[in-house]
Amino acid sequence: MNCCNNPVSRSLYLFKQRLDPQQYFLCILLFFMIPLLFAQATPPDQPDFEKQTIPDFYPDLEKMYAQMDSLAQQYPDLLQKVQIGISSTKAQPIFAMKLSDQVEKTEDEPAILLSGLHHAREPVGALFCLHFIQEMSSNYQKVDAVHKLVDNFTIWIVPVVNPDGYEYMFEHGRTFPWWRKNMRNYYARQIKKGLGVDLNRNYNYNWIHGGGDTPESWYYRGDSPASEAEVQAMQQLALRENVIAGATFHSYGELVLFPWGNYYSSPDQELMFTLATGIAQFMQKEHYFDTYDIGMLDGLAGQSSNWMHGRLRAADFTIELGTEYFPDQETVNKVLHQTMKSIMFFLDKVLQTGLRGHVVDYHTRKPVSAQILVDGFEAKYMRERVSEKRFGRFERLLPPGKYNLTILAEGYSPQIMPEIEIQKDKVTELTVFLMHDDSTRVELTH
Ligand SMILES: [Zn+2]
Repeated sequence: MNCCNNPVSRSLYLFKQRLDPQQYFLCILLFFMIPLLFAQATPPDQPDFEKQTIPDFYPDLEKMYAQMDSLAQQYPDLLQKVQIGISSTKAQPIFAMKLSDQVEKTEDEPAILLSGLHHAREPVGALFCLHFIQEMSSNYQKVDAVHKLVDNFTIWIVPVVNPDGYEYMFEHGRTFPWWRKNMRNYYARQIKKGLGVDLNRNYNYNWIHGGGDTPESWYYRGDSPASEAEVQAMQQLALRENVIAGATFHSYGELVLFPWGNYYSSPDQELMFTLATGIAQFMQKEHYFDTYDIGMLDGLAGQSSNWMHGRLRAADFTIELGTEYFPDQETVNKVLHQTMKSIMFFLDKVLQTGLRGHVVDYHTRKPVSAQILVDGFEAKYMRERVSEKRFGRFERLLPPGKYNLTILAEGYSPQIMPEIEIQKDKVTELTVFLMHDDSTRVELTH
């Protein structure tokens, strides 16, 4: 094995040759300590959470919804506010913002899903979603990179997945306890710590293995997979749109988490790691001279990113913003700014990665919903990527290489496509024509 293929390992190798082992070890130690000299010695003391109140600049639910209305009115050609469901306890609407260049149409474009506030006490994610909508809309005519993303994707943004939980904290004077779950049983029993379902443990993928199994747990996964109306709304939207990539914003921890760690590896792990690294590079930690850490999610839990990846094969990330639940305005602004850079980078990468195309019936040219199977990149514990029904459109995110594909649909002969090449930063486009199982017979009778 050659250790010296790249310039960094080559110089390390030469360097090692000239020193005895003790000197070499000391030099390496010093090298890793230098960044620490630039970092602050210790982060400031965490505030006493129980005494803190939510700062005034954090909008309540009504204000967030009003902001979504005003953005939709300001940019009617780009934005629509769409109700995707209702909350489980107070039957409040859950809204998505649809962002696209011809927003009134259902376009034949890959879909993205961003979301915030699964957990009530984590509003920075919702603030980012609103910031993203504002920035993308206001820069659509001015910034080429924004124009390109809005033209080529349909982007769905759900700033508040958990309206009941978020509202509860405001009804209680913006004070402790900082709620996490939804408000299931709010009316049935007196509210106390322990009621509610953790929406980020309720998704229908490995649900049984994760979260708490008693309602008292902060991580209570609920009675059954996707039992909660909020989660049903998210899953239905993602399935209908056949979402290919996304991110969900939580706080806090300064982490970019990808699916998954303590479970069978995803066949897409290399790509997921590369994308997570790309996202993290723009995210500067608040107190250290370093960027956000990358981590693997616990795959054995009904978390949204696990479901998005396991069910849809989407590249989905859980991003833990900041270092506390309610940072001050200045800190929030910094977080929003750098997260914007990260998500722009991420979406641009998705636009240039892997396979894209359509599956159609050979005779009628009508769209076909088919399974897109990639040799060596399928696993029995994950669902296969499919082409969606409305256009027969599919995407499959894969790193550069050559791939053997099999396209399967009921009533059609399997279509085998060997040696399909994917280049770096360039999408490979395909149209797949499927013939009916009985095509030969049909043609002979004509
Ligand atoms: Zn969270």
